[in-house]
Amino acid sequence: MIDTHCHLDRCEDPTAAVDPQLAALVTVGTDLERSRWAVSAARRHPNVYAAVGVHPNDARLAADPEVRAGIEALAEDPLVVGIGETGFDRHWDAATPSEQAAAFEWQAELAARLDKALILHVRDAQGSSEASEQAAAAITAAGHRRGVLHCFNGSPRLLEAGLALGWMVSFAGNLTYRSAGDVRAAATEVPLDRLLVETDAPFLAPVPHRGKRNLPAYVRHTAAYLAELRGVPLAELEPVLDANAERLFGLAAARAAAGVE
Ligand SMILES: [Zn+2]
Repeated sequence: MIDTHCHLDRCEDPTAAVDPQLAALVTVGTDLERSRWAVSAARRHPNVYAAVGVHPNDARLAADPEVRAGIEALAEDPLVVGIGETGFDRHWDAATPSEQAAAFEWQAELAARLDKALILHVRDAQGSSEASEQAAAAITAAGHRRGVLHCFNGSPRLLEAGLALGWMVSFAGNLTYRSAGDVRAAATEVPLDRLLVETDAPFLAPVPHRGKRNLPAYVRHTAAYLAELRGVPLAELEPVLDANAERLFGLAAARAAAGVE
């Protein structure tokens, strides 16, 4: 079982959050400091891998040449298997659409140049699909064929764009929420070889932990829910999910290149 997206640095006890039973966890940096932390965590734990980048809500930081240079240097580390999370967030509106677009374009180019997975965050404002539509257009224009729709929101337009590029589609704990009809519908449609699960811990804890702080170990609840939704035994789905994560991130090669066990 693999947690393809979490934020260990935001967990109460990051070391305790690294469940040794998980084959891998990808901890995602959201600014330069947190990206640096993610790479150091990947060095300390044999099952932890890093993603580095600037979150769309912090997109204005990505205009700083020193931040860009710092992230680009970190991105060369073999234990960095993804760039981002980047994308489009109209819910918080913490950065302007043009700041978010500029930060996305830079990170998409970086991912393409290094042939690493691009991690896409998309959150619409209530009652709007503007961010999803902008994201669909942006990933299509960027054309990088290695990426993931992280914490997929159920947008049909975004799903179509991601699948056309060969991207993975990752489901988080909100899949298990009663209100998530669109997300559940998408979870039955995504081809088996494109499916991933994640926690986004410490956020978005799945049922039966909803409302509490999320942990990477809880990825099992989301995987079990997904298996039931698709009518396949978890024992059959799990190796497929793991193989998909391996194909997207190149985990075994990353660990071998880093020369640490
Ligand atoms: Zn995240």
